[in-house]
Amino acid sequence: MALIVHKYGGTSMGSTERIKNVAKRVAKWHRAGHQMVVVPSAMSGETNRLLGLAKDVAPSVHSAQYQRELDMIASTGEQVSVGLLALALQAEGLEAVSYAGWQVPVRTDSAFTKARIESIDDVRVRADLAAGKVVVITGFQGIDPEGHITTLGRGGSDTSAVAVAAAMKADECLIYTDVDGVYTTDPRIVPDARRLHTISFEEMLEMASLGSKVLQIRSVEFAGKYKVPLRVLSSFTPWDIDLEEEAKSGTLITFEEDEKMEQAVVSGIAFNRDEAKITVMGVPDKPGIAYQILGGVAEANIDVDVIIQNVSHEGKTDFSFTVHRNDYARTVDLLNSQIVPQLGAEKVTGDTKICKVSIVGIGMRSHAGVAAKMFRALSEEGINIQMITTSEIKTSVVIDEKYMELAVRALHKAFDLDQAA
Ligand code: ADP
Ligand code: ASP
Ligand code: MG
Repeated sequence: MALIVHKYGGTSMGSTERIKNVAKRVAKWHRAGHQMVVVPSAMSGETNRLLGLAKDVAPSVHSAQYQRELDMIASTGEQVSVGLLALALQAEGLEAVSYAGWQVPVRTDSAFTKARIESIDDVRVRADLAAGKVVVITGFQGIDPEGHITTLGRGGSDTSAVAVAAAMKADECLIYTDVDGVYTTDPRIVPDARRLHTISFEEMLEMASLGSKVLQIRSVEFAGKYKVPLRVLSSFTPWDIDLEEEAKSGTLITFEEDEKMEQAVVSGIAFNRDEAKITVMGVPDKPGIAYQILGGVAEANIDVDVIIQNVSHEGKTDFSFTVHRNDYARTVDLLNSQIVPQLGAEKVTGDTKICKVSIVGIGMRSHAGVAAKMFRALSEEGINIQMITTSEIKTSVVIDEKYMELAVRALHKAFDLDQAA
C-alpha cells in the first residue's frame, strides 16, 4: 500500500463527464489498496471566466489594491471542482471528503495572486486516510496568516499537489494532464515534438521557469526540495487501463543525472509570451545606474528577468530589461514618474510584442558551440535577436513575438529534437 497524490488539471476536470472519469480512475487506484489524495484544478476556462468578471467590474484589476479580492474570486473555481469530484467518488461507492485550502489548512504568505505555500497541516488528512477516505483538496489556493484566502499564481494547482505530496511524504505525485508527458517542446506548436521518458529535475526546472506551462515552476522547486517523486501523464487514457502500465507511463522527473537515459545536448525548447521589454534611453553612464533603475523596480515588487546594458556612447547608455506583461504599465509609470527624472535619463520606450525562446539541456555544460548553433539557426530564418541571456544549462533569446513559432520550429529541427534519442 502506498500513499499517492493525483493532480488533475482544468481540461481533465473540464465537464461533469470528465469528472466522473477522474473519479473512476481514482477509485481504481484506491481499490488497488492505495491511500489517495486528489488535488483538482478548476474546470477548464473557469479561472479565466472568473478573472474576466473581475476585470469587467474593475478594469485596472492588476493594481495592488485589488489583489485580495481577485483571490477571493479566482479561488472559487477550485472549490466547485473538489465538491463535484468528492460527489463523483461517493457515487462510485467510495468514502470521500473535499476540503478548501483553509480547511486543511494550506498556509501561505500574503502575496495575493502569487502566494507561496509555507506549510501544510497533515493531521486532518491523515485521519481521513486512516479512516479509508479519499481526500480531495483544492488546488491553487491557501490561507495567509491573517485568514485571507490566497491563490498561488496561474497553474498553481501543480504546486498545491506537490506540496501536499511533500507534506504527506507521499510515495509519488502523479500530475494528470491533457498531454501524455513532458515533450521536447509544446506539442501544440511543434507537432513533431517527442515525449521524454525522463527529464532531469534541473532541466524541468529550467523548462518550467522559461515558460513550459506543463508544470508550474514552484511545483518543480518543491519536488526538488523535498525529493517528491513526480510524474506527468495523461488523464485521457481509458480510466480502466492496467494500473501498472499507467503507473509507468508519461514522463518521470529524475533527480540523479546518471538516471537520465536520453543524454542529449539540448533536451527541450521553451518559450514565453508573457514578458514585455522596457528600455531606459540616454542614461548617464556612471556607477550605480543599474541599482537606481532596478532597485526602484524591485521595491515596487516587480520581477525583472532579462537585463542588458549597452556600451556607452558619449557618456550615455541605454538600459533594457524585461518584466511580466501584467507589470508593464506599472513599470513604465514608475520609471517616468520617479526614476527617469532622478537619473536624468532621456526617455523610456517599451515593446510588449516580444517573446523569449530558450534551449535547455544539461548536456550544454560539456559542449561548446551550442549557443552559436542556436544563433545560426535563427539567422537562417532571418530572425533578429534583441537580447541574449545564458546560464550553464540554457540559452535564451528575446525576439519579435511574431517569429516565435518559426523560431521554436527551427530550433527544434536544428537540435534534432524530432529524432528518436
Ligand atoms: P493542466 O490544465 O492539466 O494543468 P496545462 O495547460 O497547464 O494543463 O499544461 C499542459 C499543456 O502544457 C499542454 O497541453 C501543452 O500545450 C503545454 N506544454 C508546454 N510545453 C510543454 C512541453 N514541453 N511538454 C508538454 N506540454 C507542454
Ligand atoms: N485554476 C488555476 C489556473 O487556471 C490553477 C491551475 O489550473 O493550476 O491557473
Ligand atoms: Mg497547468
